[in-house]
Amino acid sequence: MRYADRMENLTASEIRELLKVTNRPEIISFAGGLPAAELFPIEEMAAASTAVLKNQGEQALQYSTTEGVFPLREWIAQRENNRIGTQLTAENILITHGSQQALDLVGKLLINKSDVILCESPTYLSALNVFKTFEGKILEVQTDQEGMIVSDLENLLATTADVKLIYVIPTFQNPSGKTWSLERKQQVLEIANRYDVAIIEDAPYEEPRYSGELTPPMFSFPKAENVIRTGSFSKVLCPGLRIGWISADAAVIEKLVLIKQSTDLQSNTFAQMQIFQFLQANSIDDHIAKLVKTYRLRRDAAISAIETYFPKNTQYTYPEGGLFIWLELPEEINTTELLEKSLDRKVAFVSGESFYAENPKLNTLRLNFSCMDEARIEAGMKILGGLIAEELAM
Ligand code: PMP
Repeated sequence: MRYADRMENLTASEIRELLKVTNRPEIISFAGGLPAAELFPIEEMAAASTAVLKNQGEQALQYSTTEGVFPLREWIAQRENNRIGTQLTAENILITHGSQQALDLVGKLLINKSDVILCESPTYLSALNVFKTFEGKILEVQTDQEGMIVSDLENLLATTADVKLIYVIPTFQNPSGKTWSLERKQQVLEIANRYDVAIIEDAPYEEPRYSGELTPPMFSFPKAENVIRTGSFSKVLCPGLRIGWISADAAVIEKLVLIKQSTDLQSNTFAQMQIFQFLQANSIDDHIAKLVKTYRLRRDAAISAIETYFPKNTQYTYPEGGLFIWLELPEEINTTELLEKSLDRKVAFVSGESFYAENPKLNTLRLNFSCMDEARIEAGMKILGGLIAEELAM
């Protein structure tokens, strides 16, 4: 088969390969980014599904609009307005198949071959793959505790031609778990506007939050016409229904609708109506409160295990939400090699290498803490900490 040139840039994700192994029950896995399945509202979803089929079955099983089911778009706009102080209407919302498809559609909208995309170092692996599909050139911007380092961003913009897009995950970032400061968001938006570069503000993790408070997203600032925001029901409800959205200027949504039409006509009508029915019949805030209670305990268990079992000079992030902790181990540890040995002891994680667009730090790793109870987290971390101590002693 004579594949398209773009396929040369695409490689199998280490995580997808790893997940094949980590599905086995004997493996303690900190690898995937899975929400806790035992917290899915299965009965409520069953009731929502039945109600939709009974009361609106013909509509639910029929084609519908590319933009998405209207009442769901209205609901999302309203919730965004209440949470982040925007003034959105349904015209600003396009329903997508997960925020992953949102990234893909925005990529198609903006990226010409060889356009430059700036992203955080490290960043979300599957966003990198989207940008590679469109044959974009990805450059990484160095980050600190507050977000992108502004001088590095300025320097890249001043010295690089054809920068089209800045991709960021300012809240509970994947993979680092970090959250940007308000000041950093203001600075980055100001710089992006000055260079006329669009921003994708990817926000699938904003809820649930276990501590601290949300600072306004860039999308809600004045002069944010160049910001496109992506959201998702994956982390607040369930990823399996694959429903997410794009919030943007109505003119941008109109263009994205043209693209989505050619991609898949529309998102799954039934899934959209099922989610809307669930939201009508249940309190999403009560559901999120349940998630917070469980995830907070798991985060705390993981942090306390790092402090107990890992070398004292390990650096780690303290996420206020999301699913991940990012670790920087002593420099002599290569986490890709560590992973092979750790899998022999039936513990999995993702080595940090996969999350860098350019220059990987080989002593980093991502730990997911959302999908196991505290006892299993403690047991897995003890094994991993023991292995690291052995490696350092060699
Ligand atoms: N963006 C980020 C940063 C992610 O980590 C993920 C996956 N967890 C997605 C987008 C895609 O999520 P989904 O398609 O399930 O909304």
